Amino acid sequence: MNRDDSKKWTPETLAAQTLFGTDPVNGMIVPSIHPSTTYLRDPDNQYRHGRVYSRADNPGYEVAANLLAALEGGEEALLFASGMAAATAVFLALSPGDHVIAPKMMYWALRRWLGDTATRWGMEVELVETENTTAVKAAIRPGKTKLIWLETPANPVWSITDIAAIAELAKSAGAKLAVDSTVATPILTKPLSLGADIVMHSATKYLNGHSDVIAGALVTKAKDEMWTRIRTNLSGIGGVLGPFEAWLLQRGMRTLPVRVKAACAGALDLAQRLSNHPAVSEVLYPGLPHFAGHEIAARQMQGGFGGMLSIRVRKGEQAAIATAAKVTLWQRATSLGGVESLIEHRASVEGPTSPVPSDLLRLSVGIESPDDLYEDLATALTAASR
Ligand SMILES: *Cc1c(COP(=O)(O)O)cnc(C)c1O
Repeated sequence: MNRDDSKKWTPETLAAQTLFGTDPVNGMIVPSIHPSTTYLRDPDNQYRHGRVYSRADNPGYEVAANLLAALEGGEEALLFASGMAAATAVFLALSPGDHVIAPKMMYWALRRWLGDTATRWGMEVELVETENTTAVKAAIRPGKTKLIWLETPANPVWSITDIAAIAELAKSAGAKLAVDSTVATPILTKPLSLGADIVMHSATKYLNGHSDVIAGALVTKAKDEMWTRIRTNLSGIGGVLGPFEAWLLQRGMRTLPVRVKAACAGALDLAQRLSNHPAVSEVLYPGLPHFAGHEIAARQMQGGFGGMLSIRVRKGEQAAIATAAKVTLWQRATSLGGVESLIEHRASVEGPTSPVPSDLLRLSVGIESPDDLYEDLATALTAASR
């Protein structure tokens, strides 16, 4: 495959061949791992190979990073040691006193960091119901708001924010728009094409897909001043990915399109069947027609509504916890986006300050048979709600 043809091929093709990530030196069809921490200086004191030290860069990062940039339609991608390292790098590219808007409902560890560390360092963080475009518009402070951060679908109720509408607001206010697209993946949504400036991923989740790597990534629409600061922060703060993790990540990404499609099909099937289960009071899934953000999701998500859904257990918190205790196929664990299905009582994780309902169980649907997954969960629900 010729690298210049990247626009010609589908995501399935680009991913399967890791965007032509073969080894150019030995002709191996699998990319190599590059463990060296340092690079030879030439006798004339130059670095003709262009690399100096692996905290700044490593050729092994390029396989996953270039593939992700191609899938997102961005100019460049950077890999980080975790999703949190990637997300915080965006905020750390701002200055004290800058006003930022972020969702009320979002990945909890980042919400906690914003309210704690970022605020102590002088950032003005305002949490807004970003699903409500009017609320975002009202929160914007012209000249002061420098960043709008979105997450859609948002953990763990999967609320949908209209990226294109918020992008217009950000643009007219001179603010950057960054989107945590971990749950949507580039297979379902391309935030840059909807007007976002930066896309963030916890690559720990769907991108890697096998629950065996902690990693994060950012993709930019343009190599502008903000991106230069982010790039500098990556090596300056040093939250870089290990070479072996970068290699595992590219291997996981080879099957991203097929895994995401399987998870979407399974999640939709489960959402529909669980809607009719007597022990379930509500199913939260953007693919259900009555779900609040369904119409926007149908517009900005192509090919599926994601592999994440949540259910609310009619008999309340204790019945929800008991349901998670009774499943035998679903694994009781946090995280998401792996090939194996996970179940979690979110409020137990997030603690008393969390806005998450206490009767909610978060489901990360893997690629097992939806029939098996349904039977296991339906049986546990019935037994726990007696
Ligand atoms: C997991 C997750 C993160 C944090 O990523 P880590 O890789 O765990 O640091 C951020 N956003 C979302 C939506 C996530 O699911």
